[in-house]
Amino acid sequence: MKTLKFYLFLILFSGSLFAQEIPSDVLKLSENIDTNRIKAHVTYLASDALLGRKPGKPGYQMAVDYVVKEYKSMGILPAGENREYTQKVVLRNSKLIKENTSLSFVEADGSKKALVLGEDYLIAPNPENPSVIFKSPLVFVGSGIDAPELGFNDYKGIDVKGKICVVLQKSPDNVPANVKLHLRYPSTYQDYAMKHGAIGVLLCNYENNTARFKVGANLSIQGGNNVSIKPNGKIVPSASLQGGKIQVAGNITVDVLKDLMIANNLNLEEIWKSLEKGSFVSQNLKTMAVGAYESTYKDIESYNVIGKIEGSDKKLKKEYVIHSAHLDHLGVGKPIDGDSIYNGAHDNASGVAAALEIARTYSQLPVKPKRSMLFLMCTAEEMGLLGSAYFANNPTVHKKDIVVDVNTDMPTFLAQLESIAPLGAEHSTLMNIAEKAAKTLNLSVESDPEPTEGRFVRSDQYSFVKAGIPALHVKFGHINSNKNLAEDVKKWRATHYHKPSDQIENGFVWSASRKYAQVNFLISYMAAQDKNRVAWKKDDFFYLRLKK
Ligand SMILES: [Zn+2]
Repeated sequence: MKTLKFYLFLILFSGSLFAQEIPSDVLKLSENIDTNRIKAHVTYLASDALLGRKPGKPGYQMAVDYVVKEYKSMGILPAGENREYTQKVVLRNSKLIKENTSLSFVEADGSKKALVLGEDYLIAPNPENPSVIFKSPLVFVGSGIDAPELGFNDYKGIDVKGKICVVLQKSPDNVPANVKLHLRYPSTYQDYAMKHGAIGVLLCNYENNTARFKVGANLSIQGGNNVSIKPNGKIVPSASLQGGKIQVAGNITVDVLKDLMIANNLNLEEIWKSLEKGSFVSQNLKTMAVGAYESTYKDIESYNVIGKIEGSDKKLKKEYVIHSAHLDHLGVGKPIDGDSIYNGAHDNASGVAAALEIARTYSQLPVKPKRSMLFLMCTAEEMGLLGSAYFANNPTVHKKDIVVDVNTDMPTFLAQLESIAPLGAEHSTLMNIAEKAAKTLNLSVESDPEPTEGRFVRSDQYSFVKAGIPALHVKFGHINSNKNLAEDVKKWRATHYHKPSDQIENGFVWSASRKYAQVNFLISYMAAQDKNRVAWKKDDFFYLRLKK
């Protein structure tokens, strides 16, 4: 340590402070990121002793204790609740009481069609109200999207107040992959419907067949729904549930929608064709939805772990740049080849390890960046990004002061890093920063090599984006001079992803972890140092949706 400080002292006064926009001493320090330490973090966090770091279980608490100990040893300040490093997150699993759940469609002449749960329809359990009774007119809102900037306003001139919206999901063409993926989540439709005053949404996926619907519905009924709960008992919106005024969040089969259309003198196939042509098809229906459902709850307590390093600028230090990484994994589950511990070495002990060494690098900087840094290790990412959603909705600092989130999740250290894919950076000025950081390290930049994997909306950075905070998640790009990384990643995922074999023995090229940590460090450093805040692109979908 002494040697390093002395060395820094020397280069600090050696004259050439700025190599591009990154001071040479800062760059130098980032070159000393210790891959042995990264390996040591993964070795502990992914060891069998932690039993897969399942929220609510002792193994997760061991991971929390480990991170707290590391923060303390680096001199990182507590930034959770009550001057501690932790933020409590209550996770609620809700399940339907099947025998008390019903849904019928009632026509104007009084004729009634009772639907069968798990065969014709599915209703999400309600984490706020254990017992819900409803009787509401149905209204067809086409593809259910209200985004004029994309050329859609399926709610134009349609009164949905107090009604249940029926949505025929149609993935829009000609929109960016990230937006397309956002438009797959049920809560996106519930949010649009709620903003127009509706009390429910029934989604229909035209491309789903009835057999598949049944399998999915029954799995969902069995497992229930997970959300995080605010201190006031209300839910934090998740990808599947928006909460608030939406009391009925469900799905119906194509057959049910077909019959509903016939009862209203409409033809589903013709409507689908019109939708494909981009025509406006929303309209009131004469049918009423009548039903009731009950839900049971099971709560567990878990924790986000948050540390901070204060910025050096008197004014800007009240603003924060976040490094996030999820600390949880899947716990103990179905054995595969005799192993039942889902260690989650890549997913996401490696992302946590990188973030910890980024934190250490900041702790060693003799002059901190202007803005403050927050290091947020999230719980319950694997349960649906619940810990990060909780933090983004109830941050331990003022929300308006959070400038950006840089997330690290399952980097896959399978080969040397030669190219980065900064997922989500294109939505904001983060792209300039990511490009600069990459250039400094001689890395190329590529767009998401696997856009269909939906990785941008499948990890914690999405919680920040939804809350209005620009974010990115740097993945390994596939450009590589020695390896076919696309093939290697595919193979790794098929063999080890979300399996007990995602453990330290499989697939790590430790020397690759330094450059990955380094590029993330340089990105957050520039975001923390630049006098201008990272900003959304003015015509960006995720920015414009905030303005409604
Ligand atoms: Zn995962």
